[in-house]
Amino acid sequence: MRDLKRYEFWFIVGSQDLYGDETLKQVESNARIIAEEFAKDPLLPGTLVLKPIAVTPAIIRTLFAEANAAANCAGIITWMHTFSPSKMWIQGLALNSKPVLHLHTQFNRDIPWDSIDMDFMNLNQSAHGDRDHGHIYARMRLGRKVVAGFWQDKDARRRIGVWMRAAAARHEGMRSVVIRIGDNMREVAVTEGDKVEAQIRFGWQVNTWGVGDLAAGYARTGLGEAEALVKEYEAHYCLAPGSDHQAILEQAKIEIALKKMLETEHAGAFTTTFQDLHGLPQLPGLAAQRLMEQGYGFGAEGDWKQSMLVRAAKVMASGLPGGVSFMEDYTYHFEPGREAALGAHMLEVCPSIAAGKPRIEVHPLGIGGKAPPARLVFDAAPGQAALATLVDLGDRFRMIVNEIETVKIEHDMPKLPVARALWKPYPNLIDAAEAWILAGGAHHSVYATALTSEYFRDWAEMSGIEFVHINRTTKPERLRDELRWAEAYWSPHGRL
Ligand code: MN
Repeated sequence: MRDLKRYEFWFIVGSQDLYGDETLKQVESNARIIAEEFAKDPLLPGTLVLKPIAVTPAIIRTLFAEANAAANCAGIITWMHTFSPSKMWIQGLALNSKPVLHLHTQFNRDIPWDSIDMDFMNLNQSAHGDRDHGHIYARMRLGRKVVAGFWQDKDARRRIGVWMRAAAARHEGMRSVVIRIGDNMREVAVTEGDKVEAQIRFGWQVNTWGVGDLAAGYARTGLGEAEALVKEYEAHYCLAPGSDHQAILEQAKIEIALKKMLETEHAGAFTTTFQDLHGLPQLPGLAAQRLMEQGYGFGAEGDWKQSMLVRAAKVMASGLPGGVSFMEDYTYHFEPGREAALGAHMLEVCPSIAAGKPRIEVHPLGIGGKAPPARLVFDAAPGQAALATLVDLGDRFRMIVNEIETVKIEHDMPKLPVARALWKPYPNLIDAAEAWILAGGAHHSVYATALTSEYFRDWAEMSGIEFVHINRTTKPERLRDELRWAEAYWSPHGRL
């Protein structure tokens, strides 16, 4: 969706000037080789920019000040080729506002057993220098990702790439707008939240537009424009025989009107609510699905937190195989040995997660009191996925991620004509559900087959929010204790 090359990642390599010019030239030359190799590797999707070797407090302070001011700089990678005493870094790190990855590597893979001498030891000293560097982050309580490993190893590069994608999403989030069409669903707690805190924490501008603005845009949309979009639908999806053309045409008009609003406001995400559809003929179903497929974030029932998180996940997943969608836990299958959760929504699930070609169907909706809406119907592709949700606990945001495995749906479910996904959560349905509920997780989530929990963890870390991970080793009773300890860590009195 987005070309992540637009995001710069500054590579700041540390040393100190007491080594002399010859050593520093070698440091610079080695750093350049790594930077050039990284730039060629598609695992690292951003643009790596090698900066002058950081050898004095003044240079370091200036580099971080420039990074703060650089509009395209989405993050900073630091690595200590030699020893670079970390008190030199305090002023720079204190003013830094960009996400940091501390790369702990060394230029040579092997110890040169026969030729190693003290000059070699002084030049290739990251085992030493990166420890003092890591200490100052720990001492200053600064969030960062640490990636240790030989720089040519694929797994180290993959983990840097994951962080780059999370940093790109954070960078984009600092400029993002969500259009809330109407308010949240009445009486629902978990879709509520502090919009001011969200803007402070994530950069997201969360504002409301009346549904009348969308209805007016819908009413203004020309028939020719809408018919042309229906032709596009026919080319991309299967059309159920005898489908109500008029109902599909109305969704096309809603999609066109919504997209114009999103473009006018430079918005990356939107919400709707079935309780506020005055002037619209149907709940935006197909229209919301199509816009998610184009990379927009979406949240139903006014759920702006999940809408923005869908958008962030779409940015992280740019160019990766698999999909990202808004999702909702609906119902369980408790048959012993085949326990699973069925996820769906009234209509709004993104076709990027579909196993086959989605079908457009028109059916009545038992809620909202509007005309039968057109929607895309499909089963989600089987495979590993991550389910992420963002909740507001009053004093902080908490992200909860459950690793899941989506399985093939063996039944047609002819009376449930919506997009759906059937998954087995890790460690198992019972423990995963207990853990999610203990953590206060929402029924709404972001479902991603393109991403793993590591992307969400990196994004949460750079956003400075709590991250709760439900995976193969989770035990609910242990998690309950961890959640209680976290209260102390996140309390305003518990943090420095
Ligand atoms: Mn819902």
